[in-house]
Order: sequence, then C-alpha cells, then structure tokens
Amino acid sequence: MSEIILEGRGLTRRYKTDTGQTLTACRGVDLTLHKGKTLGIVGESGCGKSTLLRMVTQLEQPDEGRLFYFGKDITSLKGEELRKNRRHIQMVFQDSSAAFFPRMKVSEAVSEPLRNFKRLSQREVDRQVSKLLELVELPESFSERYPHSMSGGQRQRLGIARALALNPDVLVCDEATSALDVSVQQRIIQLLAEIQRERKLSMIFVCHDLALVQSMSHQIMVMYLGGVVESLPGNQMWERACHPYSKALLGSIFAVDMDFDKPLSRLEGDVPSPLDLPKGCPFHTRCAQCMDRCQQERPALRTIGPDHQVACHLYSNEVKECI
Ligand code: SF4
Repeated sequence: MSEIILEGRGLTRRYKTDTGQTLTACRGVDLTLHKGKTLGIVGESGCGKSTLLRMVTQLEQPDEGRLFYFGKDITSLKGEELRKNRRHIQMVFQDSSAAFFPRMKVSEAVSEPLRNFKRLSQREVDRQVSKLLELVELPESFSERYPHSMSGGQRQRLGIARALALNPDVLVCDEATSALDVSVQQRIIQLLAEIQRERKLSMIFVCHDLALVQSMSHQIMVMYLGGVVESLPGNQMWERACHPYSKALLGSIFAVDMDFDKPLSRLEGDVPSPLDLPKGCPFHTRCAQCMDRCQQERPALRTIGPDHQVACHLYSNEVKECI
C-alpha cells in the first residue's frame, strides 16, 4: 500500500445545544488515507460525515483524538501555521452556487487562493488560471464570466479548479456531485478520476449514494450515528459488506441490471436522535438481527479480514470473515 498522507485517530466532536445537552456528532473515528487513493464515506444524513470533514479540513478542532498529516500531528495547529497547513487539504462543496462570491469573476474566484498564499506576478496568476480552467475542461473565455451565469456542472468544475489551485495533496469532496444531473455527475466523476491519476491526488469522497462511492473508492467507511460501523475495500463492498446497516444500504440501491422480482429493501424506523443515543449498539433499534446483547453492549470495531473492520456482535465472538 502507498504512503499514508492523512490519519485520524479517535476523532470526536461534541456540541452543546441551547438546552445544555451534549450532542456527540462524531465519536472516536479512525481514518487512514493513502497517497493517490480515495476514501469513500457513506451514511444517512446526521451520521457525522460533515462533522468529520470539518475536522479533517481543520475548520474545527476535535474535542478528542488526533489528526496527522504525513505523520506530523496537526491537531492543535493555530494561527499562521494552521493557515499554511490548510492549503494541503482542500475541499469541493456540494452547493456550488453558494461557494462563490457573486461579484467575483471566474478568474478572480480561481485565483483567490493563489493570491492569498503565493506571491505571484499578475502574468503568472493569469497563466495558472488558464491552466486550471483547461484542467477542468472549461474554456478560457469563461474567465471573464460570473459563476451565476454558468450551469451547475460548470460551476462544480470551477469549484474543483479553485480547490486544486494550490496543488493540494488531499481533495475532500463533500457531496460534490449530488446536486447534478446524472450525465453531468458522471463526467465530473471521470474528471476527478483523471485528475487523481495525473496528480497522484488523495481524495475523501463523501456521498449518500453508495453505488457512486463504491465506483471510485479504494476503501469505504460506513458511518452510522457518529461512528464507523464498517470499513472495507471499495471493490469488496458488494460481496463482503456484512454489517446489517451496510447490507441495508446496499439493498436499497436501484440498478438497471437488478433483479426486479426482488423488492428494494427499506430500512424501517428513523435514525435515533444523537442527543438521546440508545444504549448498546446504536443500530439496534432498526436492526432485524438484533439480539439481547445488542441492547446492552456497544460493539467495538474489529478486524475480520484484510482492510476489513466491522462493529457488530454477530462478528465479535470469534474473528470470522464475512461470507
Ligand atoms: S450489534 Fe446487533 S443490533 Fe448492532 S448491527 Fe450487529 S446484530 Fe444488529
């Protein structure tokens, strides 16, 4: 496996609510991102994906746990050191229409990070902007346009160009293609894959669409109620995912080659409130395989195969590989 670029250990984030309660949005999450690879993160709304991304991109500090970049502890960086480090981990946001200041032209939006971090002549800035627009397949003539006059797909390319302006090691895509039409989404995904190959870029790809995440991730983490319930290689998702929640997510995917005699599975019940987490396994209120033990004891994340961990009592007595 290639070099580790980013590593999180026990990342935990809590928030105080107006009523004085504590909401644990992310609980003891470990993650490992290798050079040139993609880590996919899936889970329903409220599972902690966005909070985890805010810690990884250093927009927020964890209450517990450590974050390492090339082995260096960057958890508590502050001031100028923090600002400088942020250039290595850049983000593409879901809402491309809100990501740009409406009165900034495309050239200004793309060059803003360059002007903030590098002392470049105007000529060099213009040259870099042209290169970035070419990279994301936008015509150079767009540099004089305003983002609001562009389509959603074009704006998302612009978001990618801006995120790549500082040549980061890690690109974090937070539901970056969710708001796009399927055909546009497909081209953006291809573009990201091409850029990743060319630049040996590491990516964290967050999406609620498991089929899409699976198609481009080397490793997938499935999150539920702030914690990781399963982590496994992306190409083994269909055959080897074994946590009941992962299986439910897989069973709810619609595909053209699916068996139409088989109904799509649907998860019954709502996700419990993170303010009032159930005792034991967080998934037990919705799990068809729930046992007595599940209501009392939270299962730990255990290794059950190469690069495969699962947090479920069905796999905790003896270390067994899922079938
Ligand atoms: S620990 Fe129990 S409730 Fe939780 S997923 Fe496994 S079987 Fe279901």
